[in-house]
Amino acid sequence: MLSPFKEERRKLVDNLVREGYVRSKGVMRALLKVPREEFVLPKYRKYAYLDMPLPILSGQTISAPHMCAIMCEELRLREGLEVLEVGTGSGYHAALCAEIVAPEGGGGHVYSIEYFNELAAFSKENLRRAGYEDRVTVINGDGSSLLPFRRGFDRILVTAAAPKIPSKLVEHLNPGGRMIIPIGGGLVQILTLVIKDESGKVRVEERGGCCFVKLKGLEGFMYEDY
Ligand code: SAM
Repeated sequence: MLSPFKEERRKLVDNLVREGYVRSKGVMRALLKVPREEFVLPKYRKYAYLDMPLPILSGQTISAPHMCAIMCEELRLREGLEVLEVGTGSGYHAALCAEIVAPEGGGGHVYSIEYFNELAAFSKENLRRAGYEDRVTVINGDGSSLLPFRRGFDRILVTAAAPKIPSKLVEHLNPGGRMIIPIGGGLVQILTLVIKDESGKVRVEERGGCCFVKLKGLEGFMYEDY
């Protein structure tokens, strides 16, 4: 017999496929594999497979599964890629990415930066329990600008809304890379895709409305009252 969570997970993924959010086998497999119940607060475990954001610590949220699916699809993730996530939160979205870029533990890797210390600790523990600690490296810091890397990434995923596309993140995107980021200061923001071609030329495309918490830090909404 399937565990109740496994059955609920399967039903959620079926719905996400039917609704058109999941379009690739890689994203479908990742959503079927990563146990979202291990990334929510214990009191919300019973809601882990509702397609909605849920509160975590520090006033932040774990994103809704359909939004994770949309962002993973836009990034066109594949095995072997190196991914940077800004906004680790619970660690769930990082685990989904790791399941695609490093399915058997080898190949790619996910680096994820989290602003709040207590969330960096929370996500690390969740990722360890769920078996992703070797494929996801969590760093506590400001991922809007103060990046502790001297190299670029194939894909960048930003899971909080920025006032504009942070220049440091564009610099850290490899040629041929893609970045997905919500842009805007209102309740509804624009999910924005940044594509850097092989010659380094950058193109920006809008992908419709979305609703995220605000990015903090130097290139975020640091000086605004939020
Ligand atoms: N990806 C997360 C998950 O799977 O649970 C959900 C992320 S939540 C919607 C947004 C996260 O971005 C929060 O955890 C927040 O603390 C973090 N954040 C906001 N500004 C940040 C910054 N400048 N650098 C790093 N993390 C930031």
